[in-house]
Amino acid sequence: MTVLVKPKALGDYKIREFRMLIDGKWVDGAEGRMIERVAPGHGVTVSRYQAATKIDAERAIAAARRAFDDGPWPRMTASERSLILLRAADMIAARADELAFLDAIESGKPISQAKGELAGAADIWRYAAALARDLSGESYNTLGDGTLGVVLREAIGVVSIITPWNFPFLIVSQKLPFALAAGCTTVVKPSELTSGSTLVLGEILEAAGVPAGVVNIIVGTGPEAGAPLTSHPDVDMVSFTGSTGVGRLTMANAAQTLKKVSLELGGKNPQIVFPDANLDEFIDAAVFGAYFNAGECCNAGSRLILHRDIADEVTARIAALSAKVKVGDPLDPETQVGAIITPQHLEKIASYVSAASSDGATVAHGGAALDLGMGQFMAPTILSSVRAEMAVAREEVFGPVLSVLTFETTEEAIKIANSIDYGLSAGVWSRDFDTCLTIGRRVRAGTIWMNTFMDGASELPFGGYRQSGLGRELGRHAVEDYTETKTLNMHIGQRTNWWMPR
Ligand code: NAD
Repeated sequence: MTVLVKPKALGDYKIREFRMLIDGKWVDGAEGRMIERVAPGHGVTVSRYQAATKIDAERAIAAARRAFDDGPWPRMTASERSLILLRAADMIAARADELAFLDAIESGKPISQAKGELAGAADIWRYAAALARDLSGESYNTLGDGTLGVVLREAIGVVSIITPWNFPFLIVSQKLPFALAAGCTTVVKPSELTSGSTLVLGEILEAAGVPAGVVNIIVGTGPEAGAPLTSHPDVDMVSFTGSTGVGRLTMANAAQTLKKVSLELGGKNPQIVFPDANLDEFIDAAVFGAYFNAGECCNAGSRLILHRDIADEVTARIAALSAKVKVGDPLDPETQVGAIITPQHLEKIASYVSAASSDGATVAHGGAALDLGMGQFMAPTILSSVRAEMAVAREEVFGPVLSVLTFETTEEAIKIANSIDYGLSAGVWSRDFDTCLTIGRRVRAGTIWMNTFMDGASELPFGGYRQSGLGRELGRHAVEDYTETKTLNMHIGQRTNWWMPR
């Protein structure tokens, strides 16, 4: 059983039409083609965007290049840039309901969650505004009488920002304000499935005072509009969040001109639970970790690694709580799990579940798609008796599917946790300090949560080990990522000649 919240028909909903932002102007794509977005929870078209091609991508890159080479943005004081970012943060907060609605209807996520993401995003813009003024280099007055060394941090230049569909506004906010704080100019390409809120962000940034050409926003498919942003010689850096496969391709494309790349990729994150854990707290975190954003989350806690002594009890309790999770209409404030992004993705999720069942896993809850009259939905699903080598335990399902594995010793738990290609995040649950720290130090992942799961703050760096990515976002060094380092090596007084020593 699952608690269903049937979607209400959108009735005479007015489809939103969007244009692209290139060089300070809202324009149509060169070929005039459109992309239609069908709401995953309602099955009807809700947004129409202009589809960019290579020609539009190249125009946007040229505008960003001009704005960097000749425009005011990189030359402003950090305090001026910071003020504009703060103004943008206020405007994001003022338009949060509209932006959250767009994210909810285009991605299928619950509206209450989308509102939370908008609040988090506004906080990140404010944090980036603060960091802008703290960006500084180093000086060395210790190199002898004849030398003074100064290390400068300079904006890296034109940055391509490519984002996925699962957290449309939050993820662009983990990149763009930091690039702007450093003085970079940008071309942003959101996912073609959820571009609305990023395009509204373009309006906000114009109104906040970001000069023309500094932020260009194009919409289009990856191969058509995204690929040129990763290979064009006038782009200095690519900041990409998305799947590991496309991340790999992005790095290969960027390698042709040796661009800097920052990659935030997939995850298959374990939660390791010991018998002395506070199980009441953990059961809630397990359900939240697995089903938040319908499991379409790089940080999803999709692998439970339970101590054998508690595995049956914990699985039964998670199954009981899963039955209470409210699944359905993304626009209903009560909904906890919304729709699945596309019908094709729902099929992929269901095929992981059926493959695991055929391979010996047991469905402890859910296991199938849900028919709510419109849109596409998946039941919160728990698979027990999963073996570590099964695809469902190793690959990113990207749906509300939780795999339960078991362990007997701490070493075994660490081995299972580290046995896959991903290393984004992990959780450990125990009341024992030594146990938590041992897991915290030995599990190879960018974030380890101890007795909690999927918490975050703008101050805390986020990113992955191994095939979960390269580089870190957020945290106090986030602005530095968008800079180059330059050494000024200055000579004072008479130089010792090489050719004719004096
Ligand atoms: P995706 O890789 O399919 O697409 C991401 C973006 O890349 C989209 O804008 C897409 O249009 C673009 N793209 C696709 N092909 C491209 C190409 N050849 N060249 C340039 N750009 C291209 O990912 P998705 O399905 O949108 O998002 C889900 C994935 O994102 C999951 O794997 C998830 O784990 C990952 N993700 C990671 C994080 C993180 O911070 N680590 C956060 C959110 C999502």
